[in-house]
Amino acid sequence: MPLILEIKGNSLDDGPGIRSVVFFKGCPLDCSWCHNPESKRTVAEMSYDPAECVGCDACLDACGRGALSRDGAHFIDRDRCDMCLECVEACPSGALSRVGKPMSVQEVAAEIEKDLPFFRTSGGGATMSGGEPTMFMGFLARLLARLAESGIHTIVETCGQFDASEFEREILPRAGAVYYDLKVFDDDLHRRECGVSNARILENFRRMQPECERLGKELLARVPLIPGVTATRENLEAIAGFLKSCGASRVALLEYNPLWLEKSAKLGRPSPCASQRSMRSWMTRAEIEQCRRAMAGLQIV
Ligand code: SF4
Ligand code: SF4
Repeated sequence: MPLILEIKGNSLDDGPGIRSVVFFKGCPLDCSWCHNPESKRTVAEMSYDPAECVGCDACLDACGRGALSRDGAHFIDRDRCDMCLECVEACPSGALSRVGKPMSVQEVAAEIEKDLPFFRTSGGGATMSGGEPTMFMGFLARLLARLAESGIHTIVETCGQFDASEFEREILPRAGAVYYDLKVFDDDLHRRECGVSNARILENFRRMQPECERLGKELLARVPLIPGVTATRENLEAIAGFLKSCGASRVALLEYNPLWLEKSAKLGRPSPCASQRSMRSWMTRAEIEQCRRAMAGLQIV
């Protein structure tokens, strides 16, 4: 059973209409700028938000393993912590929380189905996100089938690092659409910034394009704009060329959001990117417009 980070209702950003977004915990990539750093690992984690802490020290008294201290840089000694959650129970302010909860297909579906009336009136549905939902192929296939039975449109967001045969067999027949992230075209840079080669990701996209066309399913490539990494003219032109060579005609550009830096710090994994000025700010309209121009020949949605 995968861990679910959150099922976020009323989303307007993850596909058409009003949607519920399921965030799976776990990802085969390790992107240096990951906007959902809490979704990288498949195991449960502790989050500590100093802004919410009222300094009562109830958690220090509750912890039998001596894993909490005001002396360390990150408050929680994650090597000592065994996730007993006594501190979370004791914390009166919500500053400490557990990240990731095991949920069954039935539990996830029941939560999503609460919003059926909104999906019907807005043309929305459910979006599987993360993390990487295809890390849990069997679970995902059962969830998509259950939602289809309830008449709920589904989108699977993926980083493309999956077993293509399994995806075609288990996921494609059940998903309404696939949103496919492409980040860095140069393989050496992809290895450095995302932790793995992009060979399988590109190969899978090339394979999925005609397959989705044959099935009449939308396959939408998306590029997250990361200052100095993906949002360079060279990278975007290379991705645009690749998409056109695959027969794709549309692409979505995802605007950079610096709030991930804060999330990373709460998990005790502050990013080295935090020292870069461009990573701490939002992109300007002019910068985004430059990125759009680099995708010439493709419809930007
Ligand atoms: S989860 Fe348990 S072991 Fe970990 S810090 Fe909290 S009380 Fe201590
Ligand atoms: S119990 Fe919560 S509010 Fe009190 S010191 Fe610990 S983290 Fe802060």
